[in-house]
Amino acid sequence: MLTRFAPSPTGELHLGHAYSAIIAHDAARAVGGRFHIRIDDIDGSRSREAYVTAALADLEWLGLDWDAPPLRQSDRLGDYAAAMDDLARRGLVYPCFCTRADIAASLSAPHGPLGPVYPGTCRALPPALRDARRADDPHCWRIDMARAAALAGPLTWEEEGRGPRRADPGAHGDVVLARKDAPASYHLASTIDDAALGVSHVIRGADLIASTDIHRLLQALLGLPTPIYRHHPLLCGPQGKRLAKRDAAASLAAMRADGVDGRALADDLRAGRLPTGYSLQMP
Ligand code: GLU
Repeated sequence: MLTRFAPSPTGELHLGHAYSAIIAHDAARAVGGRFHIRIDDIDGSRSREAYVTAALADLEWLGLDWDAPPLRQSDRLGDYAAAMDDLARRGLVYPCFCTRADIAASLSAPHGPLGPVYPGTCRALPPALRDARRADDPHCWRIDMARAAALAGPLTWEEEGRGPRRADPGAHGDVVLARKDAPASYHLASTIDDAALGVSHVIRGADLIASTDIHRLLQALLGLPTPIYRHHPLLCGPQGKRLAKRDAAASLAAMRADGVDGRALADDLRAGRLPTGYSLQMP
């Protein structure tokens, strides 16, 4: 068994991250398996080195250990580019020149599980115009979802202990797989890295269950293995809302600085002893 915890260094870790990391760590350790850390630092404009340092210090403070130096997504851009080239050669992605405002202005834009579904404007651009614009105009790359989903056929994944789940990538429409400032989307980078690391069980918050539709499709298209998934309940704060990076009250770095015993805190979370007002909820 190989599990991982994959923080994005765009803010401080909070109690919800601690809960997730502990579950993934303990699941592997319980059966003599391995546990890895991946740093999702692909978004260069939002990632901060100070948050990487703080996250690793938080995890050590909780008493967690890992089996290899943390994998950094910023070191793996070549692998993501190779996968994009492969998808482009097969006509499964296309450049999109639409701005956010263009998409918002589209009256028909329906909503999918992760937000507005792209109306497909640039999918229909004549090839000559597309090539001319690619040279000069800012663009991202989107998957041609109808084509990709048809090629992949019906897809399922195993939700640990709860049986097979049907993946519905089509509901998400033509999602972005790469853009200039982040050369691989979370979906693409995470899928490729989980396979490269040999992750056998992806253990993460239930807020990401809809993303698994897309990850499962990318595995099929790129010939990658499908891990087992466990989407755990989310830690919610006193208002019943899931914790966000701006919730200073739950910041692990702040607790660490206050002299809280991290190992005792980790044992409390393991035993389901949550701070007053906190709860675990399935979204
Ligand atoms: N960096 C992602 C996040 O923090 C990781 C998600 C995952 O575990 O796949 O949401």
